[in-house]
This record gives sequence, structure tokens and C-alpha cells, in this order.
Amino acid sequence: MQVPAPFEYQRVSSVDQAVGLLERLGDTARLVAGGHSLLPMMKLRLANFEYLIDINDLHEELGYIVVEPGQIRIGALTRHRELLESEELAAAFPIFRDAERVIADPVVRNRGTLGGSLCQADPSEDLSAVCTTLDASCVIRGQDGERVVSMTDFHRGPYETAVGDAEMLTEVRFPIRPGGSSAYEKVERRAGDWAVVSAGAAVWLEDGLVTDARVGLAAVGPNTAGIPGIAEELRGRPPSEELYARAGEIAAEAADPVTDRRGSAAYKRHLARELTARVLRTSVERIGAATAPVNGQGV
Ligand SMILES: Cc1cc2nc3c(=O)[nH]c(=O)nc-3n(C[C@H](O)[C@H](O)[C@H](O)COP(=O)(O)OP(=O)(O)OC[C@H]3O[C@@H](n4cnc5c(N)ncnc54)[C@H](O)[C@@H]3O)c2cc1C
Repeated sequence: MQVPAPFEYQRVSSVDQAVGLLERLGDTARLVAGGHSLLPMMKLRLANFEYLIDINDLHEELGYIVVEPGQIRIGALTRHRELLESEELAAAFPIFRDAERVIADPVVRNRGTLGGSLCQADPSEDLSAVCTTLDASCVIRGQDGERVVSMTDFHRGPYETAVGDAEMLTEVRFPIRPGGSSAYEKVERRAGDWAVVSAGAAVWLEDGLVTDARVGLAAVGPNTAGIPGIAEELRGRPPSEELYARAGEIAAEAADPVTDRRGSAAYKRHLARELTARVLRTSVERIGAATAPVNGQGV
């Protein structure tokens, strides 16, 4: 089946208009951003909506990367290509460029958005793992105003989020902390494919000791998952191969993969272990090499 069921289509020119339409149409309507997840699902008749509300004309309002003291704010309609090409973002959070280099292909990256990626809530979604790793917060707008939800609470299950039927995601915020860096690695069956498993890490050091470490995994459970035990294991210790290996064990134990056409559960658990060690190692190496502080704050 390659043709979606009939639907009504409207382009909107403001967030208020989008939210007003969502309020009126309820769960019969969906926003369309890049369309790279929603439209294939509609063509396959895995999803059917009576109304599509096109938010692409809001790119000027919601397509931005703003670096501020203490945080970076990214608009929900910022496209993969813009995330890939932003030098400021790569300087603050190298994990973004690592991830964007392995997401899909230029055609998808030209249209697909940060907001669409998070709201699709696919367990294999790379940007969700990045946002989990960086402890992002999601700004959700409805008719009664805005609320801010942490990544931990944003995903409620596969393809389910905290965004209500009459709400939209408008912005994602990333705290900047000094003395840290980050990295992302993915194993895929062929270039541009979804992850077999992928892992992101962010590490912070002070006086040669780990002050904090975060790891986010994709494709090993119902949602991309942060692994809290890793921070406890690494905190207060100097980075070492033994520590990376221990963190890898914790990630493998926390992973809950299923056997599918991308690989067996045992293989995916092995990847969770190996990729966690690698991204922690790269993050630590990058702290040593960090030369481009953002707003005077080394990150
Ligand atoms: C061939 C192909 C390969 C791909 N490979 C990868 C890959 O390797 N890794 C990866 O991570 N992704 C991959 N993707 C997915 C791609 O990154 C999508 O662009 C992304 O998942 C969805 O973004 P979108 O803007 O296209 O969202 P859309 O398809 O427009 O929307 C997806 C969902 O989010 C909702 N939505 C969109 N924006 C908002 C908003 N602001 N507020 C509330 N709800 C919203 C929509 O209503 C819909 O339910 C691939 C896609 C394709 C087609």
C-alpha cells in the first residue's frame, strides 16, 4: 500500500493557530513537520489521520539554535542538516555532529526535524538518545501556555510522548556545564540505516576526576534510555580503561533488547557494552582536546 487514506490538509502560520486547530480537531489530527516518519506510516496505513496540520511555514519561528550562557535552546523545527552544520553546536556538544553524520541521508536530513524525531518516539531514534544523554528539557505549548518536561518523562513508551493531542513541542533546551565533552557511535547494517544499537555519552572532569557521566542508548528497549548507574560508578574516579569497561557492563545489564532482523538480543547487548566504553573514552579524549569554549564556558 503506497498511497495514504484521504485527509484534509492545512498549512499554519503561527504556533497559536496550530494549537487552536489541534484543540478543535483532537486525535483525528496530526502535525506534519519533515514528514519523513509520519508520511511513510500513513502510506503503509500504519497510521490514519483525517487532518494534517503542516507546520513548515513556522521554520522562521521554530528553526533556530541559540547559544546562551548556561544553555543552548533549539527550536523544534530545526532540521537535521542545520544541526549537522552548526559549528556552535558542534563546539558545545560534539555528540550532535557525530549523530547527525549517521542519521539517514541528505534527502531525509534536509527535511526531518528535531521536534519530529523526538515526537515520533521511535526506540531507535538517534536524536532521542542524544537528548537523553545531554539531559535535555522539552518545552511543550498548549492553549493554556507552556510547560517544560525532562527527557526522562518525555517518552512514555514506543511512539508515545508527554505531548497531548492539543499540544506541540516548540523547543528543546540543553544545559551547558563546564569541563565536559560528548560523543556518539552507532552500529548500522548499512550507511544511513536505523541503528542496530547506538550509544551517546557525556562526561565532565575536574582536576582529572570524573564529576559526572551520562550515557544514552538507542534500540535496546521500548524507548531510548539513560543509564543512571554509570554516573555513580564513575564519579570521583580518574578515567581509565577499567572504568569504561565497567560502565559498558552496567549498560549491557540495563539494556533490554529484542531479537529481530537487525540482530540477536545477545549481539545487541554486546554492542551496548562495547559502544558505551567507546563513547566514554572519546568524550574524555575530547575534553583534553577541547579548544572552542562557548561563551567562555568550556564544554
Ligand atoms: C529512509 C529514512 C531513514 C531514516 N533513518 C534514520 C536514522 O538512521 N536515524 C534516525 O534517528 N532517524 C531516521 N529517520 C527518521 C528521520 O530522522 C525523521 O525525519 C524523523 O524521525 C522525524 O522527523 P520529521 O520532522 O520528519 O517528523 P514527521 O514525520 O513530520 O512527524 C513525526 C511525528 O512527530 C509529530 N510531530 C512533528 N513535529 C512535532 C512538534 N513540533 N510537536 C508535536 N508533534 C510533532 C508528528 O505529528 C508525527 O506524529 C529516517 C527516515 C527515513 C525516511
